[in-house]
Amino acid sequence: MTLQERDELVIWHPFTHQKNRPPVIPIVKGKATLLFDENHQVYIDAISSWWVNLHGHAHPYIAQKLYEQALTLEQVIFAGFTHEPAVALAEKLLTILPSGMSRIFYSDNGSTSTEVAIKMSLQYWWNQQEKYPQSPNRTKILAFKDAYHGDTFGAMSVSDRSVFTLPFHEKLFEVISIDTPNADNIQELQHQIQAEGSNIAAFIYEPLVQGAGGIKMYAPEYMDKLLATAQAAQIICIADEVMTGFGRTGKLFASSYMTHQPDIICLSKGLTGGTMALGVTACKKHIYEAFVNDDKLKTFFHGHSFTANPLACTAALASLDLLIVPACNAQIAWLSAQNFAFASKLARGISNPEKPLPIKNIRVLGTILAFEITNGKDEYLNNIAGVITSLAMQQGVYIRPLGNTVYIMPPYCTTEQELLAIYQCLNTIIEHFRGA
Ligand SMILES: *Cc1c(COP(=O)(O)O)cnc(C)c1O
Repeated sequence: MTLQERDELVIWHPFTHQKNRPPVIPIVKGKATLLFDENHQVYIDAISSWWVNLHGHAHPYIAQKLYEQALTLEQVIFAGFTHEPAVALAEKLLTILPSGMSRIFYSDNGSTSTEVAIKMSLQYWWNQQEKYPQSPNRTKILAFKDAYHGDTFGAMSVSDRSVFTLPFHEKLFEVISIDTPNADNIQELQHQIQAEGSNIAAFIYEPLVQGAGGIKMYAPEYMDKLLATAQAAQIICIADEVMTGFGRTGKLFASSYMTHQPDIICLSKGLTGGTMALGVTACKKHIYEAFVNDDKLKTFFHGHSFTANPLACTAALASLDLLIVPACNAQIAWLSAQNFAFASKLARGISNPEKPLPIKNIRVLGTILAFEITNGKDEYLNNIAGVITSLAMQQGVYIRPLGNTVYIMPPYCTTEQELLAIYQCLNTIIEHFRGA
C-alpha cells in the first residue's frame, strides 16, 4: 500500500471535509522554503505551513540545538521544577515583547494560550472581590466579529460564530461582539465600551490582522483609540499575537504599531520557528499580583502535561537567535516592500477599464498579502479554494485559500527567485478566473 492509501484508512485530517477528500500528498522532506513530495515534486511553502515556519523547514541550527537538548533533558514536570531553556526563553521574551510584560505562563499551542488569557482575566477580577466590590460583575468578554482565537471551547466562544463553530453554539459562552474600528464607527464603539465597561473583564483581539477569519486588516490609529477607551474602563486588553507575532506584520509584534499596549499577550505559531508546539501567555505585573495571595483558592489552577517542554523552549530560543539579527530584519523588510509593490501592480490591474482583474480588497501588512477572487460568494465554503490550491501546486507553489480569500505568508528565508515564482503563480490563478 502507498502512504496515501494507508493514510486514507487510519487518519482524520484537521479542517478537512472527509467525504471525497482530495488525496493527501505525502511529504518526505523539507528544506528552507521547499517541501518535497514522494514523487520528487517540489513546492514552495508560501504560507509557512499554517503560518508557523519563520525560517523555513528543517533549519540545521534549530535541529542541532534540539538534538543537544534531547540528549540532556527532554521533559520534566513544571510544577516544582524548572530548567534553563524555560527561564532563558522567558527572560528573552520579556526583553523583546512590547513594554510592561512581566511574567510568562507556558502552554503548548495557540488555543491554549488564549484559553489561559481568558481564564487569567476572569480570575483576576474574581480574586479581587474585596478590593473591587463591583468586580463580580466583570464577567463579560469583548471580542471582534470575524475573530479567530482557536478551537477549544473558550477560544471558540471568543471567536466569531461561523461555520467553524456552528455545531457548538449552544455550548459557547456569550461575548460582546463588535466590529473592528475605522473612521466611521470608532465613536460608536467607544460609547459602547464606555456604557458596558464596568461589566467587561477583558477585550481579546488579533492586532491589525484577523487571520483565520479571512486575513482581514484594520488600521492602527483607530485601534489605538479603542485600546485607550478599554483601558480607561480598566478592561484587561489581550493581544492574540499567535499569528501576528515574530515579524509577520513587518514589526516584531503587531502591537508595536499602537501606542497603547496590551495587558496580556498570547503567542504560539512562529514562537518556535515552526519546529515544536509551544504556547505563551505573557502578562503585566498587576495581573500576576492578583494571584499572589495567602488564600489558596486564588491560585491559578491551570497547567498542561507539556507545560514549558524543554525541547520546545530550546527550539524557541534557537528561532529567536535566527530572528533577532539584522539579516533577518532585512529579509522581513524586503518581503514587505516586495508585497507592497506587487499589491500596487494588482491594484492597477483592477482599475484597468478594458481588462479589469477579477479580484478585490488587495491588502498588505508586512509579509502578509491577501485579496479576494470575485467568483462565487465571499465565504469560507466557496469551492474555488480547492481549485486554487491545485492550480498553485501544478506550478510548484503551496497556498491554501480561506474560501475565495487568497493570501501568502512566506517564510522569511524566501529567495528572490522563489518570491517571483509565488507572484507569478498568483498572476496565473487570477488569469484563470478572468471571465470564469
Ligand atoms: C492559529 C491561531 C490560534 C490557534 O492556535 P493553534 O495552535 O492552532 O491552537 C489562535 N489565535 C490566532 C490568532 C491564530 O491565528
